[in-house]
Amino acid sequence: MKDISCKLLVIGAGPGGYVCAIRAGQLGVDTVIVEMEKAGGTCLNIGCIPSKALIHAADEFEKTVRMANGNGKGTLGITVEAPKLDLAKTMTWKNGVVGRLNNGVVGLLKKAGVKIVHGRAKFRDGKTVEVETETGTQVIRTETAVIATGSMPMELPALPFGGPVISSTEALSLTKVPERLVVVGGGYIGLELGTAFAKFGSKVTVVEALPRILPQYDAELTRPVAKRLGELGVAVLTEAMAMGLSAKGDALIVKTADGQEQELPADKILVTVGRKPVMEGWGLEELDLDRAGKFLRIDSQCRTSMRGVYAIGDVTGEPTLAHRAMAQGEMVAEIVAGNRRSWDKRCIPAICYTDPEVVSAGLSPEEARAQGHEIKVGQFPYTANARAMTMQGEAGFVRVVARADNHLVLGIQAVGQHVSELATAFGLAIEMGARLEDIAGTIHAHPTQGEAFQEAALKALGHAIHI
Ligand code: FAD
Ligand code: NAD
Repeated sequence: MKDISCKLLVIGAGPGGYVCAIRAGQLGVDTVIVEMEKAGGTCLNIGCIPSKALIHAADEFEKTVRMANGNGKGTLGITVEAPKLDLAKTMTWKNGVVGRLNNGVVGLLKKAGVKIVHGRAKFRDGKTVEVETETGTQVIRTETAVIATGSMPMELPALPFGGPVISSTEALSLTKVPERLVVVGGGYIGLELGTAFAKFGSKVTVVEALPRILPQYDAELTRPVAKRLGELGVAVLTEAMAMGLSAKGDALIVKTADGQEQELPADKILVTVGRKPVMEGWGLEELDLDRAGKFLRIDSQCRTSMRGVYAIGDVTGEPTLAHRAMAQGEMVAEIVAGNRRSWDKRCIPAICYTDPEVVSAGLSPEEARAQGHEIKVGQFPYTANARAMTMQGEAGFVRVVARADNHLVLGIQAVGQHVSELATAFGLAIEMGARLEDIAGTIHAHPTQGEAFQEAALKALGHAIHI
């Protein structure tokens, strides 16, 4: 097979890698991307997209169940027969969405003139990579390389994956709803998927090591999520540690907060205790790269400790989110094309797609105070928002955190139905250096959930209208 030479070689076509390659191609950089699985990476194939598809299906199913039961949050006067779920068909629909997006990414790469090589890439040295393809070894020589190999589920030594013990990847492909699902880890994935399966009909128990669920967000933000989990019949054990499988393999043994051992019967045990960077299989041992903890160390331009070798996305550290990977990918492409860029983002918004959803952009009140800021905080509840009432989504609030002296907005958080879509406005306000007066002075269309954002800013200024 003839060697390939290029200016930029990207390893991994997840959201970090494929965005980097597309932008580089658009900028006229001679670019090759290598992917051993499917274009789109974790995010598109076994992460963000399939999980959000299942969460949507679960929401729809739960609504109809509620209507059939004639109880719960209100049936809106709609009567339906008891609905049935065919999870295999739900998965087929989800796979269709993923497939369309896979093709879309491949199409975009081609349109940008990027050469795609399928197979596992392995560095021989900083400028040479060999790829095991279906038809043999392909050698690629490059001026610049970008490592975008992503992350993988973390395993618990006492609870290795296999049999009833599954990771998010298997959970996203189940074709039968497990009767009893135990989720180990009450973080992002555990709660997003745990909630979805509870709505599909599983009896779900969440085992979380820390004193509360979603410890990455402040307690006030996650309270409505905990309440809703209770309504959905999800049992949450905090300060509980998973010890291993029972002898028969049909239960999880946990040590609860009081130090007692308890058996939780389970058909499936979903372990979601974090993800680790993919540091093996691509020839790390052939390179001289510094680490930052378990991740690759990068500077403000995503340069590693080796000249001409960049790293982006989950392999480079927290927050391990798709949009951070994409932003890094875009920046690196610009740098490789000769443009002056460095990481200058003011915030990376984070969303948890629980019920209700949680959004955080910038600093929480606690974080702002810890950084020495004197602050003003305005919080507006969804019980006072007309649109939320019309959509049966009165749980939650929007909260704005600003500097007390000049009212510069430092952080915005929200919890509520569909608030994920407000992350865009929150990010824009912080990125553009908005002050409370800018948000309060912007006409927010009525009736929208976004009005709660304006009202929270008004509240911080001391003159909210609708409360
Ligand atoms: P990845 O997406 O992991 O892509 C890396 C790619 O590199 C893979 O395709 C892999 O096959 C390839 N690769 C690795 N080694 C080699 C090699 N040697 N040769 C060739 N190819 C190689 N983030 C969000 O922002 N929002 C969400 O809603 C969200 N939901 C998630 C839900 C779940 C269930 C999971 C698991 C994750 C979720 N994430 C979410 C996180 C998100 O998926 C990651 O942050 C994102 O995919 C990271 O992108 P990346 O490009 O760094 O790596
Ligand atoms: P996570 O870090 O969000 O949550 C892991 C949870 O497991 C934590 O609450 C932790 O305290 C708990 N834990 C750790 N060890 C434990 C043990 N032995 N027993 C019980 N609990 C234990 O990790 P995740 O849910 O696996 O998700 C991984 C990453 O993927 C996230 O950090 C996030 O960056 C990304 N992700 C993002 C989204 C999103 O943006 N909506 C969705 C899913 C995943």
